[in-house]
Amino acid sequence: MNKAVLLDRDGTVIKEKPGVYLASPRGVKLYKNTLKALALFKKAGFKIFIVSNQSGVGRGYFGKAEVEAVNAKMLRLLSKAAKVQAVYYCPHAPDTPCGCRKPAPQMGLDIIKKYKIDAARSFVVGDKKSDIDFSRNIGMQSVLVLTGNGRAQQKKYGKNLGAGKVCADIYYAAKHIGKVLCKNI
Ligand SMILES: [Mg+2]
Ligand SMILES: [Zn+2]
Repeated sequence: MNKAVLLDRDGTVIKEKPGVYLASPRGVKLYKNTLKALALFKKAGFKIFIVSNQSGVGRGYFGKAEVEAVNAKMLRLLSKAAKVQAVYYCPHAPDTPCGCRKPAPQMGLDIIKKYKIDAARSFVVGDKKSDIDFSRNIGMQSVLVLTGNGRAQQKKYGKNLGAGKVCADIYYAAKHIGKVLCKNI
């Protein structure tokens, strides 16, 4: 059984301007600590996945081709630090009952099955409550990062956010996850 990190894309791995739907590869910017974080995940033996809600498709703002162009650019940048196993995204609008829009579990369950992931030893890292609820729905641990929407979400939900841990950014999340595993597993 493998252990994995399921990383949210916007606001966690790449920069997000809240309220702006990223549709062009030219807008892809990693956070300054993202590559360091991926190197740590790799060193600690995690399989790395990106799991993203892209409702801009379902809302008619852009197509799957734009999402995939953004993903390809991101993967090119990330490949300097580590291999990403796969990128999953939900293209549906929030009012479409689809089963894959986080916090719904389908993308996570597909990854667990296909890549033989031990959920209990695995983590979701994201900047929204929907990422934290998603982790719970698939039996993984969670870290909320304070980049992207993280700070606003923390203010909005307080303790109800339910994150296993809150970290400044993805690199501190990686450091935390490395320590948790050394101690407990
Ligand atoms: Mg996000
Ligand atoms: Zn969906």
